[in-house]
Amino acid sequence: MSQSQAHDDKNVDKLDPNWRSDALNLALDYGMQTIAVRAGQHRTDEGEHSEAIFTTSSYVYTSAADAAAHFNGEKTGNVYSRHTNPSVRTFERRLAALENGERAVATASGMGAILTMCLAYLKAGDHLLAANQLFGSSIGLFNNYMAKFSVEVSYVDCFDNEAWANAVQPNTKVIYCESPSNPLAQICDIGFLSQLCKANGILLVVDNCFATPALQRPLDLGADVVIHSATKYLDGQGRVLGGALVGGDKLMQEAFTVVRSGGISMSPFNAWVFTKGLETLKLRMQAHCQNANQVAEFLVNHPNVSAVHFSGLSDHPAHELATRQHHMTGGYGAIMGFEVKPSVSSDSKAAAWHVIDSTQMVSITNNLGDAKTTITHPATTTHFRLSAKERAEAGVKDGLIRLSVGLEDVEDIIKDLARGLDSL
Ligand SMILES: *Cc1c(COP(=O)(O)O)cnc(C)c1O
Repeated sequence: MSQSQAHDDKNVDKLDPNWRSDALNLALDYGMQTIAVRAGQHRTDEGEHSEAIFTTSSYVYTSAADAAAHFNGEKTGNVYSRHTNPSVRTFERRLAALENGERAVATASGMGAILTMCLAYLKAGDHLLAANQLFGSSIGLFNNYMAKFSVEVSYVDCFDNEAWANAVQPNTKVIYCESPSNPLAQICDIGFLSQLCKANGILLVVDNCFATPALQRPLDLGADVVIHSATKYLDGQGRVLGGALVGGDKLMQEAFTVVRSGGISMSPFNAWVFTKGLETLKLRMQAHCQNANQVAEFLVNHPNVSAVHFSGLSDHPAHELATRQHHMTGGYGAIMGFEVKPSVSSDSKAAAWHVIDSTQMVSITNNLGDAKTTITHPATTTHFRLSAKERAEAGVKDGLIRLSVGLEDVEDIIKDLARGLDSL
């Protein structure tokens, strides 16, 4: 056992007992919605019913000796909110329970979680094998910064199992994917990837941002670490930034020491927003998915739409895989891409812009996972920095529109899209 592993194992034993001290006794095998509403709260002596926000940067000790014991490791407990904070712990505890993980580590943003993953599990000379279909900033982080620290990075199509297997190298340490992916809602076979990783001593890391634990629990499917941009559906109302990693104790301890040392910590207020967001996550996701299924049905039948990328459609190549991987019946997420046909007078980019500009209600923005429906033209915004060839490889055509279907009345969402589609 290496020096650093011995150190990490010692830290796992020293986990603050409050981490396990929960107002809800998880051993009683509660359902997921009960966990979402109640897990993770550590009530104070004040007996508060709702979760408190602990806006404090530091903590006091009962004596000089007590302070010393906290620092020399004899005692556990809070010492500084860059390390631990009760509000952040409540969010971590609740999310961990929902993802069926031993522990979660909260971060300042989704990208903070992905950076933490890189710093915790990769070192110079290692190989990171990732999906071609990723959130743009994840690719930027891998290419611009991991490469700078001599981590080798390569990409394969997320749905191509053979390509994944062929791309594994002796120094591959992490396989990284999103499912469903952005912006074409492609699906990875997480069970297959898990077997590939286990056979080769690789960590499987899955960004579960688009599905959330309401639809899919990657750890149950064999992933080692789940990544979240809590900014999206966990909040669900586009208010604050945050992220998290979820997994086994040892891997999370490695992530925790990165967050603590690097200051990638979540703020207590944001943690509180996410904790309250988790209470309604499943109900919101059900409504998001129902709306999305109806919007996809409308789009696929519209004469001016040439393609709809959404695994909820029965002829989507990954429809069966998504049905198997998602535990919510009829739940395929609420993000889809669709391609607008060029008209006699306009090319496909102009046609897509016409559809976007004809909306009166949906928000023209690059955010997603919000109660408000959002619409984006990826080729000229989120994927603008890619070369034409890279865009083509990512399937981002000029006529492609990305839609994050919100919680408005679905008839109104459809009417808003029809304004431009009908007048092309
Ligand atoms: C938004 C997003 C991220 C990054 O999260 P931030 O909170 O914006 O840093 C990572 N992955 C996916 C899939 C996302 O949509």
